[in-house]
Amino acid sequence: MSFDVQILGSNSAMAAHNRHPSSQCIFIHHHVFLVDCGEGTQFQLQKYKLKFFRIDNIFISHLHGDHYFGLIGLLTTYQLLRRETKITIFGPPQLESIIRLQLEVSDSKLTYPLEFVSTQTDETSIIFEDDDVEVVSFPVKHRIPCTGFLFKEKVFPRKVNADAVKDLKLSSEQYYALRKGEDIRISKDIYFSNQQLTLPNLPPRTYAYCTDTLFLPSIVPIIQYADLLYHESTFLNESAARAKETFHSTAYQAAQIAKDAEVKHLIIGHFSSKYQDLSPLLREAQDTFEDTSLAIEGMIYSIPKQKN
Ligand SMILES: [Zn+2]
Repeated sequence: MSFDVQILGSNSAMAAHNRHPSSQCIFIHHHVFLVDCGEGTQFQLQKYKLKFFRIDNIFISHLHGDHYFGLIGLLTTYQLLRRETKITIFGPPQLESIIRLQLEVSDSKLTYPLEFVSTQTDETSIIFEDDDVEVVSFPVKHRIPCTGFLFKEKVFPRKVNADAVKDLKLSSEQYYALRKGEDIRISKDIYFSNQQLTLPNLPPRTYAYCTDTLFLPSIVPIIQYADLLYHESTFLNESAARAKETFHSTAYQAAQIAKDAEVKHLIIGHFSSKYQDLSPLLREAQDTFEDTSLAIEGMIYSIPKQKN
């Protein structure tokens, strides 16, 4: 079961140095989620040969243009290609009226259902949930309302312990009940707790997406122990005053968040156009949190299955 993050855009504000505005694809089991959709995202989807018809849920952090100006282009391309399956967009409340207006004035009649779910910028909330995955949005601190997203694999069902059940002649219903975590009764007098007959399964994996935000230690408990954290690092710490003024973070600050949250790996991105060479940003982050990578467009960052 895959859990991969592919970077489509890693620059802040504008396209520069062959880098594009924010966007990434997250592959979790059968899902393909798109997170932010800066200008040019559909070109990036084509460039990296992604099956973009499989995207069914799109998450938009906030309404600065470098995070959603690619959305109307992508949505109308789907229409031209006569998509029929629904798309759900999670984002700030004003996003629906912006997109509906763009569709209306261009007389675009979508061939597929389009649903909007508003994110809350004053509290943490579960915005998506199915049998495999849960997505939580949480407020961050930016010049306009903005949320981060936490993608969490659901806890896997426990595994039936073949040795423990081999003499019990269980029915298929009893197997199913055990996998669901239930206790079972074999007869009037024979009863087993779930733990007696099952083994723990693989631990679930999590990915946290945090952009755009001031250095915000209050998010640490929300993203704690994430397997992978993407945190914006718009500036080097020598420009910390500029970062504060524009409600962004520095590479050092991103690394400090990763360290405090005890995540396994950090990806830094959302780079200012003032940096053509990104290696000073990487070095600065690695001084505080060694297990750091740059968000390089096209790169896939995989979260391997965890061991018990
Ligand atoms: Zn922004």
